[in-house]
Amino acid sequence: MKQIRMVDLHTQYGNIKPEIDTAIQEIVDSTAFINGPAVGRFQENLEKYLGIRHVIPCANGTDALQVAMMALGLQPGDEVITTSFTFIATVEVIALLRLTPVLVDVDPDTFNIDPEAIRRAVTPKTKAIVPVHLFGQCVDMDAILEIAREYDLFVIEDTAQAIGAEYYFKDGSKAQAGTIGHVGCTSFFPSKNLGCYGDGGAIFTNDDGLAEQLRIIVNHGMTVRYYHDMVGVNSRLDSIQAAVLNVKLKYLDQYAMARRKVAAIYNEAFKDNPKLKTPVEFNRSNHVYHQYTLVIRDVDRDALQQHLASKDIPFGIYYPVPMHMQKAYLDPRYKKGDFPVTEMLASTVISLPMHTELDEEQLEYITETVLEFVNQ
Ligand SMILES: *Cc1c(COP(=O)(O)O)cnc(C)c1O
Repeated sequence: MKQIRMVDLHTQYGNIKPEIDTAIQEIVDSTAFINGPAVGRFQENLEKYLGIRHVIPCANGTDALQVAMMALGLQPGDEVITTSFTFIATVEVIALLRLTPVLVDVDPDTFNIDPEAIRRAVTPKTKAIVPVHLFGQCVDMDAILEIAREYDLFVIEDTAQAIGAEYYFKDGSKAQAGTIGHVGCTSFFPSKNLGCYGDGGAIFTNDDGLAEQLRIIVNHGMTVRYYHDMVGVNSRLDSIQAAVLNVKLKYLDQYAMARRKVAAIYNEAFKDNPKLKTPVEFNRSNHVYHQYTLVIRDVDRDALQQHLASKDIPFGIYYPVPMHMQKAYLDPRYKKGDFPVTEMLASTVISLPMHTELDEEQLEYITETVLEFVNQ
């Protein structure tokens, strides 16, 4: 059996190697490493794929979030509501900009931010909501937009884990994850569903004025060459990464299908097992399974981890520590017990290998090994 990896970028590359190698070699031959034509092509390709007016490529997903918050003119002291169960980047940029992160708990089934909890957290200082489409499925965006309209808040989607997921509105229309709020932010970190071969990110918006601000900010706040009208950052997607992404974007839907197939096989194997709660799909989003995350009941997670490791099966704990319990973000406003669902999930979730290249033999080995342990 082929070695099982959490994310098998090696096999994925092997399957598209000629195309990738040609694309990279073209950049090296042209030496247009920064802002070369491949970057512009990727921007257009992604705009078309997402059905959005503007894509602004940048250096990584964390920058995308930071630049979005800067472009919206958020000021120190403004409150930004987000989830207590996410990757740290979401909260990090809020803190870096001296905005105030206001955390709220998540839904125990979808792991996504709970709209009712957002409503309770709104104050006169609230300026924005950052819904994170965690593990590959969308937040209830009908509810988010309704709250945003009611209180006049910006919506900044963190779609680092859900690019390619579709959201189905209550009125029957649909949209790509990241194109629903005022601005969407994503990451092309190699292990993401659309990953490049280094760091990369992008910001999306349908607002022409906001797009202009975003473009200025990612480029040192520069309007005319060497004239800087605002404080910006240096955040670029380099041409080699754009060339890789131009190839991989063509396969994104196929990759999502492969991930869904893996999830279906896991679900079938684990269904009806009282100790394993399989992922719950939200009925208004298609799930692109950035992660396949189980919630375990009456199982010693440390022992399960040891068992998997001893059988050469990788796994991930996303995420072991809620945002309000992270040392750097301890805050007298919050204490242990404030976000019971997040805290429960942090100690009971485990994610299994999920990528586009898992074969049936590997999947059977993984499911049998998990079941053998939990059923013992
Ligand atoms: C990966 C990720 C980011 C950050 O992306 P980078 O490209 O690593 O900076 C932000 N938010 C979430 C939810 C992520 O998973």
